[in-house]
Amino acid sequence: MATKKEEKIETVKKTVKKTVTKAAVKVAEAALDVAEKAVNKAAEIVKEANTPIITPKDAKIPAGPLELKWTNYKNHQKLVNPANKRRLDVIVVGTGLAGASAAASLAEMGFNVLNFCIQDSPRRAHSIAAQGGINAAKNYQNDGDSIYRLYYDTIKGGDYRAREANVYRLAEVSNNIIDQCVAQGVPFAREYGGLLDNRSFGGAQVSRTFYAKGQTGQQLLLGAYSALSRQIGKGKVKMYTRYEMLDIVMIKDENGENRARGIIARNLVTGRIERFFAHAVVVGSGGYGNTFFLSTNAMASNGSAAMQMYRHGALFANPCYAQIHPTCIPKHGDFQSKLTLMSESLRNDGRIWVPKKLEDAKRLQAGEIKGRDIPEEDRDYYLERRYPAFGNLVPRDVASRAAKERCDKGYGVNNTGLAVFLDFSDAIQRLGKDVVAQKYGNLFQMYEKIVDEDPYENPMMIFPAIHYTMGGIWVDYELQTTVKGLFCIGEANFSDHGANRLGASALMQGLADGYFVLPYTIQNYLSDQIGVPRMSTDLPEFAAAEKAVQDKIDRLMAIQGKRSVDSIHKELGLIMWDFVGMGRTAEGLKEGIKKIDAIKKEFWSNVYIPGDANHLNNELEKALRLADFIEIGRLMAVDALHREESCGGHFREEYQTPEGEALRQDDKFSYVGCWKYMGEDKEPQLIKEPLDYEFTERKTRNYKN
Ligand SMILES: Cc1cc2nc3c(=O)[nH]c(=O)nc-3n(C[C@H](O)[C@H](O)[C@H](O)COP(=O)(O)OP(=O)(O)OC[C@H]3O[C@@H](n4cnc5c(N)ncnc54)[C@H](O)[C@@H]3O)c2cc1C
Repeated sequence: MATKKEEKIETVKKTVKKTVTKAAVKVAEAALDVAEKAVNKAAEIVKEANTPIITPKDAKIPAGPLELKWTNYKNHQKLVNPANKRRLDVIVVGTGLAGASAAASLAEMGFNVLNFCIQDSPRRAHSIAAQGGINAAKNYQNDGDSIYRLYYDTIKGGDYRAREANVYRLAEVSNNIIDQCVAQGVPFAREYGGLLDNRSFGGAQVSRTFYAKGQTGQQLLLGAYSALSRQIGKGKVKMYTRYEMLDIVMIKDENGENRARGIIARNLVTGRIERFFAHAVVVGSGGYGNTFFLSTNAMASNGSAAMQMYRHGALFANPCYAQIHPTCIPKHGDFQSKLTLMSESLRNDGRIWVPKKLEDAKRLQAGEIKGRDIPEEDRDYYLERRYPAFGNLVPRDVASRAAKERCDKGYGVNNTGLAVFLDFSDAIQRLGKDVVAQKYGNLFQMYEKIVDEDPYENPMMIFPAIHYTMGGIWVDYELQTTVKGLFCIGEANFSDHGANRLGASALMQGLADGYFVLPYTIQNYLSDQIGVPRMSTDLPEFAAAEKAVQDKIDRLMAIQGKRSVDSIHKELGLIMWDFVGMGRTAEGLKEGIKKIDAIKKEFWSNVYIPGDANHLNNELEKALRLADFIEIGRLMAVDALHREESCGGHFREEYQTPEGEALRQDDKFSYVGCWKYMGEDKEPQLIKEPLDYEFTERKTRNYKN
């Protein structure tokens, strides 16, 4: 029997043992924590060291001063003589501003062009929807504009995430575009004296935007279309409308390197799958904003051509850079399949506000009062308040986030609370209703038709929506992808806009690529191809590519599940908006990726496509595009997760200033994030193109003073 004293000693021993064990466990845990952090850091360093880098030489950036790079390039590039041009065929996919201008220019120069589009006429490409205008550094207003200033505004507007050499070239050729289009007869707006008129767009303090009322894209596309039609008439362009490219055909050259040598396309009317050869393939297939289901893009806009290039080894650059436009008509119901843009030009004269008082916002949401009932002193013109220097003309990313901030705080209007006002009462008083109608009449009419409210009488309601994708296929200075003979132009490439596009710069970029850049740079490639004979489409590579397309269609048609394509697409869109939308977090993005993976499974096991594949079948077309949107959505989330900073349209909530502005991490993320396809269901590999700014000082974007 133990004595009391011995028992006490035993208890003390046990307590000491417990305490020591607890302390030891804590020490061990802390040591593990430190070790884990060290291992992670080491893994990061190894990963960083193993991340392939694209050098300026790889990107073919010409040497020399910024303003001479393009001139030097043109002086030294290889040319193709007229007799040889006739022997070379070029496929151009797309008839938007990029594709139509490229096809017309290449044919005018003497190449044989095969031009494809989904729509029943080249004129119905999505570009026709562009409303507000196109930038150029003409300085017609004598307000201090210059090529350098357009370059600088574009670089700054893109949050210093674009290539200097490309942006300078874009600003340089901007003036040629206006001359070219005027010569074609594009009816740009003119002042009373007959000179071309300009207006202002976000992110600029000068008026450099050329416009044709609210239909600039339509007029520019008619110009490009007339140039294209001339070449169709001359037999230099063979036009394939209602054809959808479903794959690119690669054929190895004598060195065993893959080259793009043609495409497989489906005739959308007959369902027939056909093969086409060319010495080079140019893709101008537009942006992938419809990944979000609801966007301002045309219904047929898609990212499938981009994914076909990606799967063949072209890199996908900055997929997470998507633009959210602040002035769209708010969503009004669950059965909606399209959002409508109210052009940014409206911000020239319209003033954006929400009520100052929460009780007014609640009464507006309940439909008890209208915007016009709120007196001036109770209105919060929050953009003018927060950004006095730029006011309502801050860039789109800034304006969109500011609207979200007000709505999140409960000051939003509309029955959903997800809208702000865009008010013309001041402008109507200052200029008169007639002048406002002259400038913006068609947009006002469109608004009234959709919302059933007269915007001359009551302020418009607007809310941010997905609009444009700055990310896209990586191209070098020559607009060539990492696949030889495969070029990418317009919105489909990763373009010159960095992390955010300034309004009126997409039309500029598409037409710069098509009229003024590609027609030069493609010759550098084609000059080496003059000895390559036309190849037969009976080659095994064509047959294999066609079979792969057919197999994919057969697999989709065989599913015969229970869900419509749109219902799955809508679900994807909601996930994208909630987890990969305006405010992104690491946690949310990880969750989003899981959800997108689940959607992929659902799609490939439960989609229902009626009819058959050998006729016109809209549901099949949509299903093929949705399969790719799912992959793009995942890639966007992966890219957004890796980019631990906020820049332009990419806003990571963890990285913001105390005032809620985007916080870049220049020391870590000043690069183009390019993703390489590693195989079905495998994680893509990151490749970086560092953006070492030589000519521009990076600054924190400031639109306040
Ligand atoms: C509502 C709206 C208004 C806008 N307003 C302006 C503005 O005022 N100023 C401005 O600068 N920008 C504006 N933009 C942006 C601008 O319109 C686009 O970025 C630009 O028009 C894109 O041109 P693109 O030639 O690259 O592509 P698109 O015009 O999208 O053309 C794509 C072409 O590719 C074809 N295609 C696609 N996939 C395939 C395939 N697999 N096979 C065959 N063909 C295919 C299509 O049929 C089409 O012909 C606006 C955008 C929207 C949505």
